[in-house]
Amino acid sequence: MYTIIKRMEISASHSLKLSYQSKCENLHGHNWIITIYCRSKELNEDGMVVDFTHVKEKVMSRLDHQNLNEVLPFNTTAENIARWVCEQVPYCYRVEVQESEGNIAVYEED
Ligand SMILES: [Zn+2]
Repeated sequence: MYTIIKRMEISASHSLKLSYQSKCENLHGHNWIITIYCRSKELNEDGMVVDFTHVKEKVMSRLDHQNLNEVLPFNTTAENIARWVCEQVPYCYRVEVQESEGNIAVYEED
């Protein structure tokens, strides 16, 4: 089994819709650190699980310097973003989304 890990930083804003009062309901920004794990038993014809650059493009091109509420069709919690990223990237099985130092959400396929 081969695994690749791609880490990237994305600057983006969002606001959350919550069932309780929170400062997170106000529009604000983060430098998100997104860590993407992909694995495969076989390598492709280029000798890769998936090209690091392609992984980065799939996520950066959609999210970097965006208001996430305008580009993602769900409440933009770190958990939901992690699941969405996992769905965009081939062979991805785990994503970590760090919203700020010490606040990390992880999505992992069963
Ligand atoms: Zn936030």
